[in-house]
Amino acid sequence: MKKSRYNIYSEHLIKKFGGKVYKLPVNLPGTCPNRDGTLGFGGCIFCDEQGSGFDALPNTLTVWEQLRRNKDFFRRRFNAEKFIAYFQAFTNTYLPLEQFAANIGAAAAEEDIVGISVSTRPDCINEDYLNVLTRVRDEKNLDINIELGLQTVNYHTLRKINRGHTLAEFLDAVLRIHRRQFEICAHLILNLPWDDMQDVIENAKIISALGVRYVKLHSLYIVRGTKLGDMYERGEIRLISLEEYVRRVITFLEYLDPEIVIQRLVGKGPKNEVLFCNWDASWWKIKTELERLLEEEDTWQGKKFNYLNGCRALRRWD
Ligand code: SF4
Repeated sequence: MKKSRYNIYSEHLIKKFGGKVYKLPVNLPGTCPNRDGTLGFGGCIFCDEQGSGFDALPNTLTVWEQLRRNKDFFRRRFNAEKFIAYFQAFTNTYLPLEQFAANIGAAAAEEDIVGISVSTRPDCINEDYLNVLTRVRDEKNLDINIELGLQTVNYHTLRKINRGHTLAEFLDAVLRIHRRQFEICAHLILNLPWDDMQDVIENAKIISALGVRYVKLHSLYIVRGTKLGDMYERGEIRLISLEEYVRRVITFLEYLDPEIVIQRLVGKGPKNEVLFCNWDASWWKIKTELERLLEEEDTWQGKKFNYLNGCRALRRWD
C-alpha cells in the first residue's frame, strides 16, 4: 500500500482501536469566560453565537439523546461500530464541575464508546476537571484526549483576535495535561490575517516540541454579525489567497514532527451567514489539491522537522 505523506487520523484510529472509529459531536448549552464577562464580552472576534459548534445536534438534547441519534446515523450510513464522544462547542471545562462530571459520565456509560474528546480553552484547564477525566479513564478504561483551541502561537495575533489568553496559558495547559497523561489535540488557524509564514513555521515547531499528539487545522471562516465579519465588510482585513493557504499548510506539515497525527487539514464552515469560507471551494477539493501537491513536490510531513534539536522531550507515545 502507498505510504501517506502525512499522518492521517482515520488510519491512526484503525491502528489504535483495531477498526474504524467515528467521532460523535455532543453540543452542550454553555458559554465561555471570553463571552460571559469573566475575561471579556463578545468572545474571539470570529466566534459565532453557537460557540463554534455549528455541526452538531441542538444543545437542548441530552448527552444520551445526542449520542444515540448520532450513533444510529453512523451505524446506518457507515456500518460503524466504535465511537468517540466529542464534546465540541464552547468551553466544556467551564461548565459547573458537577454538570461537567455528569456529562462525561453519561458519555462514558454509553455502549460502544471507546473514547472521549473534550474541547476547551487552554486557560480553562484545572486540576478538578482533570480529576474527573482521570477517574473516568481509570474506571472505564477509556481513551481520553483534550482539544485545546490555540489558533496561533503568535501572541500579538492572539491579542488581535481577542482570545483572552496568550501562548503562556497554552504552555501551562499542555504541561498540566501531560502530567495526567492525556493526549492533546491543538487547534490552529493558518490564515489569520496578522500571521505570516514565519508564524506558520513557529506553530509547527512549538507544537512538535510540546509533544502534542494531534493537530486540527482550520482555515478562517467569517460569519456575518461577528466582530471579524464587521471588519471584513469594512475592508479592514486582507485574507491570503487559496494558493497561499495551501502553501502554508504544506510548509506547516514539513516542519511538524512526522508522528503527530493530523485530524484535519481543512475545516468546514457553517452553511448560512458566512461572508467568507474556504475561498468558496469545497473543503474536500482543497484537501485533494493539498495531497496532490505533496505528491507532485515529493514532500511530506516532517521533511524539515529538526530531529537534532531533540524536540521530543515531552512526547508520551514513544
Ligand atoms: S474560546 Fe471558543 S467559545 Fe470562547 S469565544 Fe473563543 S471561539 Fe468562542
